Parts: sequence; C-alpha cells; structure tokens
Amino acid sequence: MSTPVVIVVGAGVVGCAIAAKLARRDCRVTVLDRLATGAEASSAAAGILGAGAECGRPGPLYDLCKHSMDLWSDFATSLRQRVGFGFGWETCGAIEIAKDNDTALALQAKGEQLAVADPGRAPRWHDARELRVRVPELADDIRGGLLHPGDGQVEPALLTKALAIDAVRCGARLQTGRVVRGLLVQHGRITGVACDGDTLPADVVVVATGAWSQTLFGGLRTRTLVRPQRGQLAEIEMQVPPMRPVLTWQGGYAVPRRDGRVVIGATSEDAGFDKRVTAGGLLHLLAMATSVVPALAGGDLRGHWAGLRPMAADGLPLLGPHPQVEGLFVATGHHRNGILLAPATAQLVAQSVLQAETSLDLSPFLPG
Ligand SMILES: Cc1cc2nc3c(=O)[nH]c(=O)nc-3n(C[C@H](O)[C@H](O)[C@H](O)COP(=O)(O)OP(=O)(O)OC[C@H]3O[C@@H](n4cnc5c(N)ncnc54)[C@H](O)[C@@H]3O)c2cc1C
Repeated sequence: MSTPVVIVVGAGVVGCAIAAKLARRDCRVTVLDRLATGAEASSAAAGILGAGAECGRPGPLYDLCKHSMDLWSDFATSLRQRVGFGFGWETCGAIEIAKDNDTALALQAKGEQLAVADPGRAPRWHDARELRVRVPELADDIRGGLLHPGDGQVEPALLTKALAIDAVRCGARLQTGRVVRGLLVQHGRITGVACDGDTLPADVVVVATGAWSQTLFGGLRTRTLVRPQRGQLAEIEMQVPPMRPVLTWQGGYAVPRRDGRVVIGATSEDAGFDKRVTAGGLLHLLAMATSVVPALAGGDLRGHWAGLRPMAADGLPLLGPHPQVEGLFVATGHHRNGILLAPATAQLVAQSVLQAETSLDLSPFLPG
C-alpha cells in the first residue's frame, strides 16, 4: 500500500503519537475524537516515565517499557524542536520508597534482579540514612528506597498537545466533536468508520479510544478485555520544589514539577465510566502523600481530578493488526503507562500499518 488513507479514532496521547508518526510517513491521516485533544486519561495522568519504578519486573511489559524509555530522548528532543515548546520532559530519576522492613527487603531483591536482567539500567538501593541525604524532606520512619536513575517525567497535557500540533503540521486532519459509532467492515476488510450522521472511508483504521475501546470492537474477538479504572490525583503547590526525583510507594506517588507544583496520586478504583472525584479519594491521597513527605501538608491545594485508565484484563496493552479484519489496527490498554509507552506505541503501530518489520516483537501484544 503506498499512501494509505488512515483514520485514527481517539486523540489522546496514543492516537496523536501514531497520527504524527504516520503523517510524517506521508499517510493521509484523519484523527477523530468525540471530545477535544487529550480530553481524557492523557491529560489526567501524572506523567511518570517509570520503566523501573512502575513496571520493573522482567517480562514483556518491562521489555516494552524499556524499549520506549530508550526512544524517549530522541522522541522528546525532536518533537520539542518541531513544535517549538517544551512539555516538561526530564530524566529526574524515581525512588521507590520502603515504609516498612518487608517492603525494604522486597525492593532490595527487585534491585538485585533488575541488575542481573538489565545491568545498564541497574537501580541503586539507598538505606534510610543515604536516602535522607538525597531527599531530606522524607518522613523519619522511611526505611530506605530504590533509586531508578533513568526514570523521568513529562507533563502529559502539554505532551499530547505537542503531538496533536505535530500531526497537523505534518498534514493530518484533526476533527474533534466527532463520535465514532462503529467500524465499517466488508468481506473481512476495513472500509471506514460510521460517525454521527455520516460515514468516512479509509484503508486503515486505528482504534486508540482508551478506556472506551471495547465498545468499538463490537462482536470482534480480542485477546483480552479493556475496561476503565478510575484514578484520582491532586496537585499541591509549594513555594519551592520539595525534592527532585519522583517518589513512588505502594499505592501512591508524588511527582515534583520544577516550578513547585507536586502532583500526588493515585487511586485505583473500579467505578465504571464514573469520573467523579470523591472526598474519600482526596482524603486518601493527602494522607498517603503527607505520610511520606510531611511538608506537603503546608502547601496550597490547587486541584483534584480524575481520569479513566484503559486497563487490559491480562495487564498487557493491545498493539498491532487485528487478525479478523484486514486494515484494522489497535492501540489501547496502556493502563498506568500510556504516557511512558507513547514513543514505542507510535513507532511499533506505524511500522505494522506500513507493513515494515517491527523494532520489537509484537506477538505478546497482538490484539486478537
Ligand atoms: C490518574 C491517572 C494517572 C496516570 N499516570 C500515568 C503516569 O504517570 N505515567 C504514564 O505513563 N501513564 C499514566 N496514566 C495512564 C495514561 O494516562 C493512559 O495510559 C494514556 O493516557 C492512555 O492514552 P489513550 O490515548 O489510549 O487514551 P485517552 O487519553 O483516554 O484517549 C482516548 C480518546 O478517545 C476518545 N474516544 C473514545 N471513544 C470515542 C469514540 N467512540 N469516538 C471518538 N472518540 C472517542 C476520547 O474522547 C479520548 O480523547 C495515568 C492515568 C490516569 C487516569
């Protein structure tokens, strides 16, 4: 296929990254979203790039996260040059905090395992005293922490905006306020999508509709189900940034921006498509975060919001061609790591759309 007509459904970080990549390869790309660019999970996210801290267990997800981390530097540098503004990308490191002795032992074992599996990215264990030298703001009862020096952060809403701008500058058409109601399939081949009121033809359709993906699959078989998982976050503003690295702990994290804002998260709730923020959610976030960094209690509470993570039941994103429908591609189920995985997703899905060899084996992630 020379220059395919491609429809990407969903203008979150995943859809925009794929659209930008394909538009740069001369595909005729249209991105459709029922809302605005990055209106859902992609702007709700904290923006941790945590291959080590968030998914550092050997296996296909870790391999995909590592692959994406390796792409981040070039991805961010060239995107920033093309759009002319930054989106807070930095390799600030992340520390997994141990609040008790059992967690300290488990983290030390994890560090040793990763050092063997991936010596180039070996994390470093810090006992309580060493850790307090690095992060003096930590609570007195913290037992230690595992530093992943290669982890980082980005501002997800700005990143998604940059990707959308990049896609449009490369020739993609972006149509917001367009609800896609279904996929059009004839004789086992995709022919387009049905929107409210009309149909749009396409050679290739990429489903990147996050937590809403399952509704578009209709009767198609998929490897695993994708459902929403609510996450609540809050933002506290400090006069001075309280620490540099991202801090994570069992069930939570604090992401310090350079200007003194600290994003604290996150709940993991099975609440269907209900995106409400709750008093209990906020209470939980504040209690957890101030138990690790007590000084956060003195900051200004600036915001509290929620988003829906696209959670695949088997824990792996769905990436690549759908086996039942020629021309149908899937990029969803990124759960807690869709921001981290944006560069790899764009690369691998674009390669499979263009029928090129993929840079990483996609077989664990194939959608059907
Ligand atoms: C609280 C929270 C914290 C997070 N923190 C991090 C983090 O620190 N690091 C990290 O890597 N990841 C994080 N994530 C995960 C990350 O946000 C997601 O994995 C990622 O944003 C998914 O991107 P997406 O483009 O697939 O989905 P979305 O951003 O949800 O985009 C899907 C888009 O599809 C559109 N859509 C849906 N149905 C239709 C339809 N029928 N027609 C047209 N348009 C449609 C929606 O309007 C939406 O804009 C977090 C998520 C949450 C909720």
